[in-house]
Amino acid sequence: MNATRAARVAIVGAGPGGLACARVLQLHGRSVTVFEREASADARSQGGSLDLHPDTGQAALRAAGVLDRFHELSRPEGQEWRSLDHATATALEREWPDGDEGAGTEYRPEIDRGHLRGLLLDSLTPGTVRWGRPAGAATPLGDGTCRLAFEDGTTEDFDLVVGADGAWSRVRPAVSDALPEYTGVAFVETGFDDCDVRHPGLARLVGPGTMVAKAGSTGLFAQRNSNGHIRAYLAFRAPLDWHTAAGVDLDDAAAARAHFSKVLDGWDEGLRYALLNGDSGFAHRPLFALPVPHIWDHVPGVTLLGDAAHLMPPLGVGVNHALLDGADLAQALIAEERVDDAVRAYEGLMLPRSAELAKRCAEGLGHLIPPVGAGGR
Ligand SMILES: Cc1cc2nc3c(=O)[nH]c(=O)nc-3n(C[C@H](O)[C@H](O)[C@H](O)COP(=O)(O)OP(=O)(O)OC[C@H]3O[C@@H](n4cnc5c(N)ncnc54)[C@H](O)[C@@H]3O)c2cc1C
Repeated sequence: MNATRAARVAIVGAGPGGLACARVLQLHGRSVTVFEREASADARSQGGSLDLHPDTGQAALRAAGVLDRFHELSRPEGQEWRSLDHATATALEREWPDGDEGAGTEYRPEIDRGHLRGLLLDSLTPGTVRWGRPAGAATPLGDGTCRLAFEDGTTEDFDLVVGADGAWSRVRPAVSDALPEYTGVAFVETGFDDCDVRHPGLARLVGPGTMVAKAGSTGLFAQRNSNGHIRAYLAFRAPLDWHTAAGVDLDDAAAARAHFSKVLDGWDEGLRYALLNGDSGFAHRPLFALPVPHIWDHVPGVTLLGDAAHLMPPLGVGVNHALLDGADLAQALIAEERVDDAVRAYEGLMLPRSAELAKRCAEGLGHLIPPVGAGGR
């Protein structure tokens, strides 16, 4: 039953993981449909810059046949990373990975999230992604197939439903009761346009890659994207409702700036600029993560990949592993005769590696933004 060659495969979510999976399947002549809740490819800005690692993200793009296009769009200079003293903005550390495209493990060029999604979308057969189709739930039917219910009340049955629908996956309950939990760390994000012309001081401070400054449990990160855009994030330990408790309306940019000005008291003026003079207001991004380890007993007809399977703190690996999951699942479906054997093989690979990774990311977050009283304040 359920031979992979003729399998009806549904992927829920047109993020990097779901699209990589769809692309590898299509490259090998398999049919697949991606259901995405957003109305179109440009319904919303896709967010910041991502560095893709050779053994994970880049390996997946190679399997998808789009690695050359990635190299055309990516920014090798974005690998630069500098750490500055929070009070003086003098350099504490600077890393300029000297690896290049041929140098193996150190070559981690940056790509804008929108460009990554765009290159994967362009590689798919037109019509593969059904936009404006939010899934509501996946129900395994007990015969190896799975029913996908959409928010408009319609349903479709498949031989495999892949939950690639991110942190708040609607497919996940088919295999697991786990829910993301707040990590105790919140980010607020602001942005700067045309920074070389309009914000030259900030552009110099940030350089071509990422700039970090930290004081106790507060970190300021600023990262150059393409087209002269800089995104800046303040990261700090706080209860989830910190803004309500502090009486800060994040939609009121002036009030929020007055609040963050106090938070950054004693910081260098150039670094304060990176948070207090953005061209946009502030977006609140509290960090959630799935319990570690997040594993489940195999359920025929349904599986997860990427953040849906292993939402972790953003320490530079999430998208890399979403891409790798997508490619690995597709390759298992190509290699195995039966859908169920393929999914078991994929889960046998993905679950242990993501459990280990999630543990390291949870520890890494503790080092990056230490709890108050444990090196933080
Ligand atoms: C602030 C921040 C910075 C980060 N920086 C990095 C970084 O530098 N490097 C890195 O590797 N990772 C980073 N990450 C993590 C990375 O963004 C994620 O791990 C990655 O996007 C996961 O990809 P995905 O395809 O699994 O899910 P997503 O990218 O979340 O995509 C899920 C898709 O599913 C769609 N969807 C959701 N629900 C439904 C539904 N019900 N029906 C249909 N479609 C649905 C969504 O619209 C979306 O298109 C960062 C995360 C954050 C929050």
